[in-house]
Amino acid sequence: MQITFAAKSENEGFARTAVAAFVSSLDPTIEELADIKTAVSEAVTNCIIHGYNQRGGTIWMEGTLTGRKLRVSIIDEGRGIKDIKQALEPLFTTRPDLERSGMGFSFMEAFMDTVEVESTPGKGTRVSMEK
Ligand code: ATP
Ligand code: MG
Repeated sequence: MQITFAAKSENEGFARTAVAAFVSSLDPTIEELADIKTAVSEAVTNCIIHGYNQRGGTIWMEGTLTGRKLRVSIIDEGRGIKDIKQALEPLFTTRPDLERSGMGFSFMEAFMDTVEVESTPGKGTRVSMEK
């Protein structure tokens, strides 16, 4: 699965629904589905708010199914992350002014089996998750 969509908050719901449709052949439990949708929407929100600073841009979502395992990646070509280790820490946020709580990556890690972050400042960010 490969989808490209605009980095607008209206598309958070689209991304949640698209990933849910993609995994539907696996007959996931309601809880599994809720976890995957939440993790995807946290990653998409991050692209919109942090990657593109709410000025818009393009987000890519890629998914593969291997047996009963989903691998989903959320990609932006925004500002990138300087210190990934620090960004992954619970409660760390660069936007306290927007009342962000710094919990997005912690939720992704709690709801998915693995979370990998690759990022280059000035080039963009790729968050890949498996469950
Ligand atoms: P919350 O998710 O609780 O609203 P938050 O978005 O600040 O707050 P995280 O989702 O954990 O918290 O992200 C931590 C930090 O990592 C962000 O404050 C931001 O600096 C950086 N970050 C995350 N995703 C991206 C991205 N796609 N592009 C650039 N920076 C990012
Ligand atoms: Mg976040």
